[in-house]
Parts: sequence; C-alpha cells; structure tokens
Amino acid sequence: MRLILLGPPGAGKGTQSARIVERLGIPQLATGDMLRAAVAAGTSIGLKAKDVMARGELVSDEIVVGIVADRIEEPDARSGFILDGFPRTVPQAEALDLMLIGKAMGLDAVIELKVDETALLERIAKRVADTLARGEPVRKDDNPEAFKTRLVAYRQQTAPLSDYYVRRGMLKVTDGMRPIDEVTEALFGMLAVQPA
Ligand code: AMP
Repeated sequence: MRLILLGPPGAGKGTQSARIVERLGIPQLATGDMLRAAVAAGTSIGLKAKDVMARGELVSDEIVVGIVADRIEEPDARSGFILDGFPRTVPQAEALDLMLIGKAMGLDAVIELKVDETALLERIAKRVADTLARGEPVRKDDNPEAFKTRLVAYRQQTAPLSDYYVRRGMLKVTDGMRPIDEVTEALFGMLAVQPA
C-alpha cells in the first residue's frame, strides 16, 4: 500500500498516519519529522532547513525530494508507505511520480483531509497545549505568525496538488472535521481495510 495524505497543517495527517501505521504495519514517511531530525542533528540539510522551517516557509524541492528518494530506498519501505507532508508542491509530485516509475511502483491512494481553516488555529493551539502537558518541546513553527505563513504556503503551493491528483483520477477526499476515530474509520473504508 502506497498512500499520500494531503491536507493543511493541523488537518490530522500525522494523527491518522500513526493509526494507519499501526494497522497496516507500513512506515510513515513524514518529511517534517525527517527535517526536524536533521535540524536537531545539525546536518548540512538541517542547517539549510532550520530558519526556513522556523518561519513556516517551504524547504526547497531539491532538498525534500532528495530526502524522500533516499528514504524510499530503505528496506522497510519496500512493501509500502504513507507519505505525510510530501509532496507539498507540484514539482515534488512530479519528482515522486518519476521515482515510483523508476521502481515500477504506483500509488494506491491519495486522500485529502478536508478541514475548515478557521478550526486549524484552534487545533494548533491544542497541539501546543498537549505537547506542553507531556513535558515535550513545542515545535518552533507552532506559533501564530509561522502558522499563518504555513497556511499561505499550503494555499499557494500545496492546494494545487488536489487538481494534480484529480486529473490522474487518484484523489479521494474525506471530511477531516469529524472526531478522530470517525476519520480513521472513513480512511480504512476508503482503503478497503477491515477495522481492527
Ligand atoms: P510538517 O511537520 O509536515 O508540518 O512540516 C514542517 C515544516 O517542514 C514545513 O513547514 C516546511 O518548512 C518543512 N517541510 C516538510 N515537508 C516539506 C515538503 N514536502 N516540502 C517543503 N518543505 C517541507
């Protein structure tokens, strides 16, 4: 199963990916997590990405495509994966298509979590509160200013991907405003996965 989850920041892509991982045993490839790890480790990619990410802007296609190309070569990605936060631009989607064609692989599904933008700020505030309650460090880009920039990046650079996948007859859309369990159930239904 090779799956892409699309949706704005705060739509629930990470939460739902974790549940799909648990159920299907395929890895979640979250470019945001990989980039945060690179920043924390102080690698050359991390140094390039750090300030861009803190502002809420997108890291260059070249960097992100390189990371994903390496990651899907790992043995655990052979039987499938969920892409969370990638692709985020049309050139990234085109690069992914080429990568998969090169491996004689295809995508099984592209699912967009549709959410009401006004609810997103509230969700991010909740994510910050939950993270603090767990005693974990809060993401640098989970502040109102960076979040606004992330939403603009989504609208301008990522939203056009819906059309990209509609044209390929691949896009499925589900209402991401529902309770978490209901969204999970809907996703499993779309993927024809029996609930546990
Ligand atoms: P996320 O955890 O998916 O919200 O990503 C956090 C940040 O990492 C984004 O705001 C971007 O700065 C960067 N990032 C993650 N994935 C991508 C991507 N596919 N293309 C460009 N930048 C990305």
